[in-house]
Parts: sequence; structure tokens; C-alpha cells
Amino acid sequence: MMEALLREMEDYAQENHVPIINEGARDAFCRIICEERPHRVLELGTAIGYSALLMAGMGAEDIEVVSLELNEARAAKAKEFIRRSPYRDRIHVLYGDAAELLGSLHGPFDFVFMDAAKGQYPRYFRQILPLLEKRAVVLADNVLFRGYVLSKEKPPRRFKTITKRLREYIGLVQNTPGFTTEILPEGDGLAVSRRMEHDG
Ligand code: SAM
Repeated sequence: MMEALLREMEDYAQENHVPIINEGARDAFCRIICEERPHRVLELGTAIGYSALLMAGMGAEDIEVVSLELNEARAAKAKEFIRRSPYRDRIHVLYGDAAELLGSLHGPFDFVFMDAAKGQYPRYFRQILPLLEKRAVVLADNVLFRGYVLSKEKPPRRFKTITKRLREYIGLVQNTPGFTTEILPEGDGLAVSRRMEHDG
């Protein structure tokens, strides 16, 4: 049942030009979710709910996903798809700007999937820090942004700010005490930042 629904969502995304987790990154994404089996997930950027449903299907049995989406039509479509799944009571889609909604959320979350406005990643990271469990994973998609982020070549003008902010994001997670970060090249680049439990 889930397989058919996911295929339908992939077709819908393609036909309507909705960006969903890139095929190249999907295996790595699924592997990480299966390894972590999170209980309480925060997603920034729902689109039509595709990644939220993947996470719900591979996380812990008691998984709950809170997912934020700025585009009203997409948030509505996501709710429609999610209602047709076995996870209808486990995924909560909130419509609005992630940076604003984050101020009203209560943690703790043990897993965050960051996949909304790329230029806002450093800001999102600072905002989610107080909402994280001691042991938590923050997975950020598109951090290599078409190869510009690690390239010595100058990005085209229109991508200058995004590239700069994503470099800032990588520097930020690498320099935040308690986190270790791995950058995976799959898809458009995934940053996996793990917060390790420590005493005191
Ligand atoms: N996570 C989804 C998946 O893999 O199925 C894909 C998300 S798509 C790449 C990014 C989404 O973030 C878009 O639907 C976009 O409307 C949303 N978005 C962009 N800026 C946002 C913001 N400031 N707050 C919340 N959502 C935002």
C-alpha cells in the first residue's frame, strides 16, 4: 500500500515540478533513517510529504514527525497524501515559515531533516539547537549545492549567497561543540551532524 502511494507521489512531484528528495540521495537518506530509527522527527520543508512518509515508515514504532512547509498548496497536498497512509496520526504538517514556526515548537527532537530554504540553514541550526535531544542527528540536504560549495571556482552571481550560506552552515556544524559532522556526496550533498551524549 505504501509502495503504491509513494510511487503516486513521485509521479505527482515530477508532473507538478515539486522537488522531493533527489533519487541520488534517497538510498543514503533511507540508510541513515534505518540506522537511527528516530522517535521524534522535525522536518523543515515538507513539500508534498514524501520524505515525511519515508521517515515514518522507517523510524521507531512510536515515531512522530512534525513537518513545516511554507507553500500552502503543498502543505494541503501533503496532508491529503498523508491521510491516505497508515501514518496519518503520526505526521503533523504545519503551514508557515519554518523560521517563525520554530519559535513555537517544543522539543525534544532526536532527528531533524533540514530541507527548506538553503540560505537559512545557519539560522535554522541555531534555532533548533535548544530543541534537540542530547543524542540527536541533524541531516541537511543539498549542502554541496551543485558542487559550488566545495569548489574553488566562483559560483554564478545568482548562487553566490546560497553558496556562501551553505559554506557557513558547514563551518557552523563542524565547529559546534558536541557535534561531529560527515559530508556525504550523494545527490546534492548531505551533511550528517551527530550530537553525542555527554555528561554535565
Ligand atoms: N523534504 C521534501 C521531500 O524530500 O519530500 C522536499 C522539500 S523541498 C526540497 C523544499 C520545500 O521547502 C519546498 O516545498 C518549499 O516550499 C519549502 N520551503 C521553502 N522555504 C521555506 C520556509 N521558509 N519555511 C518552510 N518551508 C519552506
